[in-house]
Amino acid sequence: MPRTSHLIDDPLYYSHLQEWKLYERTPKERAKLSFERSIAMGRANNLTLKDIVTLSPAFWNSHRDPILALDAAAGTLYTIHCNLALGTLCSYLPYCHDPELANLLKRMAKMEVNGQFCMTEIGHGLDAENMETRATWSLGKGHWVLHTPRPEAGKYMPPTTPYGDHGVPCVATVFAKMIVDEEDQGIRPFLVNIHDGKRMYEGVSTRLLPPREGSNPVLHSITYFENVKLPAGAMLEYPSQASESGPPSNSFEQSALNLRLTQSKLAFELAASRVSVGALALSLGAASAIKISANIGWLYSWRRLVGPVPGDKKVKSKSQIPIISFSTQQNPILTAVARAYVLDAFHDWVTEVFSGRDPYPTTLRIRHSLAAVSKAITIQFASHACYTISERCGAQGLFHVNMMSRMHSELRGIAIAEGDILGVAIRLVNELILNKYSLPKSRDPGSLLARHEQGLLDECREIMKASGPNHRSPLTNTYILPRCQKIVEAIGHRMAYDAAVESVKRQIHVGTTGIVIPECVIDLFEASIVRLDEGWYIENIPGFSRKMIEEKEVKALGGVMKIAGYLVERWGLVKGGYIKAPIASDKMWGNFVEGLEKFGGHTIE
Ligand SMILES: Cc1cc2nc3c(=O)[nH]c(=O)nc-3n(C[C@H](O)[C@H](O)[C@H](O)COP(=O)(O)OP(=O)(O)OC[C@H]3O[C@@H](n4cnc5c(N)ncnc54)[C@H](O)[C@@H]3O)c2cc1C
Repeated sequence: MPRTSHLIDDPLYYSHLQEWKLYERTPKERAKLSFERSIAMGRANNLTLKDIVTLSPAFWNSHRDPILALDAAAGTLYTIHCNLALGTLCSYLPYCHDPELANLLKRMAKMEVNGQFCMTEIGHGLDAENMETRATWSLGKGHWVLHTPRPEAGKYMPPTTPYGDHGVPCVATVFAKMIVDEEDQGIRPFLVNIHDGKRMYEGVSTRLLPPREGSNPVLHSITYFENVKLPAGAMLEYPSQASESGPPSNSFEQSALNLRLTQSKLAFELAASRVSVGALALSLGAASAIKISANIGWLYSWRRLVGPVPGDKKVKSKSQIPIISFSTQQNPILTAVARAYVLDAFHDWVTEVFSGRDPYPTTLRIRHSLAAVSKAITIQFASHACYTISERCGAQGLFHVNMMSRMHSELRGIAIAEGDILGVAIRLVNELILNKYSLPKSRDPGSLLARHEQGLLDECREIMKASGPNHRSPLTNTYILPRCQKIVEAIGHRMAYDAAVESVKRQIHVGTTGIVIPECVIDLFEASIVRLDEGWYIENIPGFSRKMIEEKEVKALGGVMKIAGYLVERWGLVKGGYIKAPIASDKMWGNFVEGLEKFGGHTIE
């Protein structure tokens, strides 16, 4: 059971009757509520600094908690705070010996101080390596000066406004070019006070962006720094790097001068490493959107009947049938169920590997890639589930209150935040085809999905051979770039399939379901993936045809349909109070309609 389960009954999380009334509030009021929810989530999860540094099961479970899907704005604030901000700062603590930092981290862990992470610049986006914000070392004065040299260097998106006078101070890890002795020494993170809960600190300003459409609002902002003085220790640095290029020195100024550009790329990658933790964490949260959509679609499709209303004497008693009887209703729901189960097995495995609890040896780049793979397939499945299932709920599916269209909008944000899927995929595929490293190999290279993955990679290697090992050549641009996201998805599909098969072999209960994945679920997962690139399988697997693919899928769908009610129930979403959509039950619908604003309706005498 998630540590936050009691919050569902808390006034902070409204009952289904009141949930829709939230939409009458202004975006700023709703954002304030989400902020309060994020604090409540943080306190309920009660993660220790050790949980955050070691990426403990409690850390990952807090992101698998379905409460994140109830209000992704609160989830966003929670994960920025505990992963990006606190996670980055924690990693420097052992090297700083700074009691003030230790005290700040303790307060942040208790949610008394809010943490933000300012990396992206409005004028640079994915091209963060070329950011312009600079921190200049004042020679002889012993401090840094943090400055936004032009509006395009404003930090984009982190919600740094003290809106709502909530009184919770905010600090941020701000990435800036380190300038020492007029020399650009590369990008480093700096700890910066942003506001005291009511007022911005001197030299720091922020402009509030309008809300994103469709999502629960977050107060995204653009943040600027005007010659903000920072103490020497504000720069976060692993001292071992400083000593690599110069003699160890007690003088901070001396060690800062000793840093050389050769180290800066590594320092930046290390400092930004919580971004890939975030990519994986966000993908765990996104998986809840698949389960919630499938659950709502399943319940609605049983409730929604077609045919003449019984009671009419001319009509036979079994005149109405639920729309779940139609294959067009079943297919997207059952596919989502199968994908969610397989993803649970994959997420169980990938979090263990990422945290170093699985014997597979990883490096920073491999962990980064695994996070990218996880994010690519989870968002792919979640967006598909929210979109297709909400369509199958007709007009109801369009309403925010029925959750699916809102979650779909929020998934679009997740796809971009903490590693834009396409951008990360381009880098990953280029590195793989240039054999810079390799990802965990398939346990079953003869499986359909492993052959597909290998086939797509081989095609790219052929193209790369023709163009030379230049990832910026016109040939690469034309033929490899458009394939990258698809390849990363193919890698993820194979890994997820392997993880599911392995979990069955070892009789492991996946996620929090308490059950081993039934075979028909894995078959349906495989069939649904083959469907995504039918042409490749028909071209490359002897004897494959569209008819054969269809038959495999139909058989698997039939198997899953028989146990779908049980599979959905095992998620515990209805019981736990996570299904807030009024269309999920007659009672919820009745309560919802009763709560709607009413006009007229007086009895005519
Ligand atoms: C919900 C949300 C929360 C966020 N929170 C934070 C936060 O807390 N802190 C923070 O620092 N940032 C945050 N961000 C910003 C996020 O990190 C950036 O949006 C992301 O890095 C992409 O930058 P961009 O939006 O400027 O896109 P751009 O850089 O403009 O990219 C747009 C598109 O251009 C193409 N493109 C760009 N470069 C290349 C290339 N080299 N090769 C091929 N195609 C390319 C891709 O199609 C890409 O999708 C957040 C974003 C979102 C959506």
